[in-house]
Amino acid sequence: MTLAKLSLGCIADDYTGASDLANTLTRQGLRTVQTIGVPPDDLALPEVDAVVVSLKSRSIEAGLAVTRSRAAEKWLRSRGAGHVLFKICSTFDSTDAGNIGPVMDALRADSGDAIVLVTPAFPETGRTVYQGNLFVGSVPLNESPLKDHPLNPMHDSNLVRVLARQSTSPVGLVDLATLSRGADAVRGRLADLAAKGSGAAIIDAVFDRDLETIGAVALDHSLSVGASGIGLGLARGLVGSGKVKSAAAGAASGAPVGGPAACLAGSCSQATLQQIASAEKVMPVLRLDPDQIVAGLAEARRAVAWAVERITSGPVLIASSSTPEQVAALQSRHGRDAAGHAIEQAMADIAEGLVRSGVRRLVVAGGETSGAVVDRLRIPGFLVGAEIAAGVPVLRAVGAESGEMLLALKSGNFGGAEFFSDALQLMR
Ligand code: ADP
Repeated sequence: MTLAKLSLGCIADDYTGASDLANTLTRQGLRTVQTIGVPPDDLALPEVDAVVVSLKSRSIEAGLAVTRSRAAEKWLRSRGAGHVLFKICSTFDSTDAGNIGPVMDALRADSGDAIVLVTPAFPETGRTVYQGNLFVGSVPLNESPLKDHPLNPMHDSNLVRVLARQSTSPVGLVDLATLSRGADAVRGRLADLAAKGSGAAIIDAVFDRDLETIGAVALDHSLSVGASGIGLGLARGLVGSGKVKSAAAGAASGAPVGGPAACLAGSCSQATLQQIASAEKVMPVLRLDPDQIVAGLAEARRAVAWAVERITSGPVLIASSSTPEQVAALQSRHGRDAAGHAIEQAMADIAEGLVRSGVRRLVVAGGETSGAVVDRLRIPGFLVGAEIAAGVPVLRAVGAESGEMLLALKSGNFGGAEFFSDALQLMR
């Protein structure tokens, strides 16, 4: 492990967005680590090209989002990051108070750039921007389901206006006509906008190739703002210019870790229920009693003891998952939050017990369940490896107290019927 110099630093305003970006960068050939929060100053990294710092700053108070994002930026710059991407949601989730504008303003002040390119566009996932208006599939943002989002309802599709309400400086537009004339035309337009006092420019993007032009121009600057689409453009720009030597996706996964393997399922999604049924044909499966879990600790201890007797002979699966009817019944007995929290903590207890008993390869099904497990195992970050299923890569723990470890963290509906076996096959 060395203190590697980064080509690209990213600050993501939520965890799942960070994972998506880290996966996108990896697919483009960048060796990428995703960290959980701002890492410790002395975190030892393997040789990597990019680090994505995952924050939970999308919906917190703006001042706090600024402080945390600046701390992340400081860490990334201290590791040599020449360019920093502030990663936001591809639907520009924010209120008129922020947090995109305030964080962008602060990071721009720190970077010394006159103007920042901003776009949430990612045409391959249906997010396009035309004349500054964001479309979600075929409809404008303010007609999409985002208009009813519980935390950040989006009532205005015009991102020039949306961002101007959040930023202290005027916001300009680089339109598709300019973009279609190439990188130098974009550079010229940005220089004009900066000379007139704009601190940011929304840039249109309708086709995937637009992201490459945007990435190439953004790399002239030290800061940009956008979603995984601009991340893809930046990655292609870094590889295309030879600043980064493209690694085969998964090459970064490194040497086998070996050791016992286990799977934990806390997701009750249809896909996960089916995956558990398939796993039952190839490995021992323990179905936890959710009422026992809500009642106390014994169920987690019983599960660890059950697993310890078996893991030397092969992988095992421990599941709390049950059908929608059983979930509803449990929730009516104990309350939805109390039941969910108790089961997540029990899964974290079990993960901790398994790792203490030597498990070094761990597959977790369930978004909240994964969060509880990763927090408990105090894993500061992951090197992103090969994809098991779309959007679910093998993760190698970085800087974990338990040492070398491989994980797969899957939210509910991801993965095919054989997900658990597929994951274990790639986690050597
Ligand atoms: P998903 O990714 O499918 O949404 P999560 O882990 O995010 O999965 O959420 C599942 C939630 O359901 C968690 O809070 C988990 O603790 C809870 N849970 C797990 N098993 C049961 C069960 N048998 N009854 C009720 N809730 C459960």
